Amino acid sequence: MDTPFNLTKLLRENIKNLVPYSSARDEFKGEASILIDANENAFGSPLAHNYNRYPDPLQHQVKHKLSQIKGVPAANMFLGNGSDEAIDILFRAFCNPGVDNVILVPPTYGMYEVSANINDVAFRKINLTRDYQLDLPAIAEAVDEHTKLIFICSPNNPTGNSINRHDIETILNNFDGLVVVDEAYINFSQTKSFTQELAEYENLVVLQTLSKAWGLAALRLGMAFASVEIIAVFNKIKPPYNINQATQDIVLEALENVDQVNSWIKQTVEEREKLVQALQQLEMVQHITPSDANFVLVKMNDPRGVYTHLVDQGIIVRDRSKVELCEGCLRITIGTPEENQILLEKLTTIN
Ligand code: PMP
Repeated sequence: MDTPFNLTKLLRENIKNLVPYSSARDEFKGEASILIDANENAFGSPLAHNYNRYPDPLQHQVKHKLSQIKGVPAANMFLGNGSDEAIDILFRAFCNPGVDNVILVPPTYGMYEVSANINDVAFRKINLTRDYQLDLPAIAEAVDEHTKLIFICSPNNPTGNSINRHDIETILNNFDGLVVVDEAYINFSQTKSFTQELAEYENLVVLQTLSKAWGLAALRLGMAFASVEIIAVFNKIKPPYNINQATQDIVLEALENVDQVNSWIKQTVEEREKLVQALQQLEMVQHITPSDANFVLVKMNDPRGVYTHLVDQGIIVRDRSKVELCEGCLRITIGTPEENQILLEKLTTIN
């Protein structure tokens, strides 16, 4: 690194001296039988549960369970209302609006750019190479003293491929801002997670989510893994009760089902390979990017025509054909075996 990593220096000015929100329950650590500190309904909730009480702001039970599954200490974990919340918090914590900038490497997940815009933070787009890898010299060129974050999605959405591990390490070793590695699709890949590298890199933030392999998109639970110091920043500025009690309860129960999830992952990967083979037989298909995710990016002769044909049959895929470097491509999520079969039938019956 050119200069030593300095988290305090990296923080947005107004966050440096921020006094975070604090509740009476943060101050009082013991057990109390009468809770009349938080203006809740003392009688109960219309549902037979403890929903009249505010939830645990730091989600200790869920983090404990996740820690066992992920092999990461709970102290290195932040939970967000989807990983989208973690992305937004990164901007709010580290980027001075109108002053700082971040690096994006398109084609990639769209929310980084949206979040930058919402937070009035400039972004510098350094396209991935033709084979969807990082353009290291161009990234190095684009970084200046106001560059706070670099977002790298691996496996990448919408291309599906993993980003070269050595290239990510090069950036981690040379950039003195935060490197955000978004691993939303890591469960479908054979590549090793960067969550095991937290001790190695103090500028690393890894994002994961329960919305994909875990099948819990509706509950909204995303994870950020980072140093204890970075996690403290997340906790300082997050809304106090960002993970609701229903989500905490249901997630805790769901996390007991590791075997079920692993079996779905295996089926998804098998179906992905079957679908790729079948698609390759179709004349309309020009190219399929090798995927480490639960979707494939397929270059077609007439992507818009195919898209409309599928919509007419009640099948929605994602049209990425106008996205730079994805010209002509549709992104297709791996469905159940039955759904994939129907997709292939509809594709073969195009005039
Ligand atoms: N990162 C990537 C790469 C994604 O594709 C998505 C969702 N499409 C997210 C993050 C957001 O996930 P969540 O549901 O946890 O907000």
